[in-house]
Amino acid sequence: MKIGIVGLGLIGGSLALDLRPKGYRILGVSRKEETCRAALHRGIVDDASTNLSLLATADAIFICSPISLIVPIVKELIPHVSADTILTDVGSVKTPIVQEINEIWPNFVGGHPMAGTAESGLDAAISNLFAGRPYVLTPVETTPPEAVKTVEEIARSLGSQIYFCTPEDHDRAVAWISHLPVMVSAGLIASCIGETDGKVVKLAQNLASSGFKDTSRVGGGNPELGVMMARYNRGALLRSLQQYRRTLDKLIADIEREDWDSLEQQLKETQQARPDFLP
Ligand code: NAP
Repeated sequence: MKIGIVGLGLIGGSLALDLRPKGYRILGVSRKEETCRAALHRGIVDDASTNLSLLATADAIFICSPISLIVPIVKELIPHVSADTILTDVGSVKTPIVQEINEIWPNFVGGHPMAGTAESGLDAAISNLFAGRPYVLTPVETTPPEAVKTVEEIARSLGSQIYFCTPEDHDRAVAWISHLPVMVSAGLIASCIGETDGKVVKLAQNLASSGFKDTSRVGGGNPELGVMMARYNRGALLRSLQQYRRTLDKLIADIEREDWDSLEQQLKETQQARPDFLP
């Protein structure tokens, strides 16, 4: 089977690294010549080009570009492929992508491997990135079952755990566990630097340790990614942020009223709930 990968970065490169040794023939397309050359040189792909026409004979194509380019790339790709070519993507938001692509290419299965690192680009690609991690597929009523089966088999061969859900449920779930944490963590850092006494800020910076490191990590990451999350998952993220604001208001009210029992009750509930969200 020939697998096409568009976007030889962290996710696309890591997919290629894992799939090629399993006997799939990997055709890679990336924006930069040098990335294509490096992918060939490292033996990550069988063939590489900056031209989407390389993928004319691929059986299944994974679009692994930045999220804003997924739909434009599919539009550009369509003239080069035949109707039985299966397209899938790895974008971290599903509803807008699935809606737009379904209208132009029904043989499409939305996907999202829930794995990554803080790095990007082909140099960041690593083997076994997806093993033991969830891989979400979001077929809709009109998605051909054969296409779903093929993408599921490929994703399973990575050692991933497959989850099926609607694009909307996917986006609501990732709003809670991925996109809200970025905004909360960014809000934490913004609040700290909002302290008006410079010497207190300096002292806080010197005293900050593992707790601050954990809670500020995702808020101190790539701003472009945060904006993408907000742009493409706006509705679900806003709902999560509004719920978060209500939770904060309740915490503030408990502390203002010195209602330590209520506060303790809340903290007991969160202590109990946390393990359910961790592997
Ligand atoms: P990345 O490391 O930046 O990789 C994307 C690659 O796409 C770039 O390295 C670039 O390669 C290539 N590219 C850019 N424009 C292109 C174009 N017009 N045509 C072909 N290739 C193009 O980003 P990533 O982290 O792998 O993310 C890719 C996708 O995976 C995103 O949609 C993201 O939502 C999703 N995702 C990310 C993570 C994560 O944690 N990072 C997890 C799950 C899913 P060159 O410029 O070098 O050619």
